[in-house]
Amino acid sequence: MSFILWMAVRGRLPTRDRIHKYDHGAVTTCVLCNSHLESHAHLFFECLFSRAIWTQLLNYCGTHWIGLCWNDFIAWASTHWRGNTPVIVAKKLCLGAAVYHIWRKRTCHIF
Ligand SMILES: [Zn+2]
Repeated sequence: MSFILWMAVRGRLPTRDRIHKYDHGAVTTCVLCNSHLESHAHLFFECLFSRAIWTQLLNYCGTHWIGLCWNDFIAWASTHWRGNTPVIVAKKLCLGAAVYHIWRKRTCHIF
């Protein structure tokens, strides 16, 4: 799970926009919504599928959507989620679990 998060934070997962850089015939549409370019930003934050997951997760955490894009959120989290208090660890685990399950769902749709 943490490896997928590490790759996602660095923008290194083989999303369809990245694959298209090497294979110009590759499909670039998001497999989860079939309506947008599949990039890290779209897949993990902008896609309606992902947005529904984040909304539920944030509701469970007693907070709300802060309206940031993927890159801004990662920058925000890396400065605000420092330390190993139980609350911070829980937030990091939620992020890792969400990213892992979104990536897994996307991969299951393709294969
Ligand atoms: Zn999508």
